[in-house]
Amino acid sequence: MFKKHVSRELSAYCQGELGPDESRRVAEHLLGCRRCRKELDLIKVGIQFAEQIVHAPAPASLWSDIVALLDRQPSARSAKDRNPPRIWRTIALTAAAVIVISAGFVTWYAFHSKDAPWQVVNLSGNPTINAGSIGGEGNLRVGEWLNTDGTSRAQLKVANIGEVEVEPNSMVRLVKTQINEHRIELARGSMQARIWAPPKLFFVDTPSAVAVDHGCAYTLDVDDSGATMLHVTMGWVALVLGGRESMVPAGGRCNTRPGIGPGTPYFDDASDKLKTALASLDFEGGANDALSVVLAESRNLDTLTLWHLLPHLNQPQRGRVYDRMAALISPPGGVTREGVINLDQRMLDGWREEMRPTWQREDRSIWKKLLG
Ligand SMILES: [Zn+2]
Repeated sequence: MFKKHVSRELSAYCQGELGPDESRRVAEHLLGCRRCRKELDLIKVGIQFAEQIVHAPAPASLWSDIVALLDRQPSARSAKDRNPPRIWRTIALTAAAVIVISAGFVTWYAFHSKDAPWQVVNLSGNPTINAGSIGGEGNLRVGEWLNTDGTSRAQLKVANIGEVEVEPNSMVRLVKTQINEHRIELARGSMQARIWAPPKLFFVDTPSAVAVDHGCAYTLDVDDSGATMLHVTMGWVALVLGGRESMVPAGGRCNTRPGIGPGTPYFDDASDKLKTALASLDFEGGANDALSVVLAESRNLDTLTLWHLLPHLNQPQRGRVYDRMAALISPPGGVTREGVINLDQRMLDGWREEMRPTWQREDRSIWKKLLG
């Protein structure tokens, strides 16, 4: 299925040294290749490790101590001990190699881990950075605010992993940009993101949830009260806050409220009755009546909504949801009514995996084509 693994390019990919096309090709390969994702994870762990290392010059005696250790002759030892020195020699050589590689990596990382500014392109009007006009193009540094007024729009280059279009009347701050995490804050307004990175590299903080990219395209709108609306057009996005998490696939939406966090995801083409009843359940304390409407209006696809509702209901309500879901999509073996009512996580996850292909409605052939 895959043309070629991207192991060789991963280091340059992490350093942001690939051109946009090459970077995109690597990212798209990563989306579909578990093996290369594992290698990328290892590189990221290495970077996190390097971040924790305190820079200190190695004492000059270290290398001579290692050399002395290597040169020690086993002749003075008893016959019984003759083999261990060979093992120690191997260990010492390995340790020396690790020290040299680590030192090189720390040095490399010190040069490459700086929060590089993001390029901002003026799409219309007069976008500003920290109140200063950017003209045609500008740079957004960590901590700075990009503002658009009623007639302005701007495009942000998200390091080497994607693009964000910032719509009029919006406020966006760059919070962090490092190879294992790129994060912005959308305090108000609207943005559209297109991200071609592996999952969980790009984050958007809003006043009432964090949007976590899982390889996708989506829009976010934040109103003056801090309420957020997420609309996913490709891939998946998670909205999280505290213990609440909503996974939203392409064609899905999810609303959030300050003080409550993410509500329950639903599909664009769910019935208006379902959407109204769901808002009541999520944010207005609606109970059995609203649940009855949601259950009656649910199609196979809306098991997405039903599955996400379960943890937020009481036990009798969960029983009702189980019955409706089971009528729409049979639970796999081992998933019982009692287990679901008691929120057995293994059972919930097992059933979700059974339903996931139904929820992924986008044309997968596009991805197959992209991934070769
Ligand atoms: Zn691969």
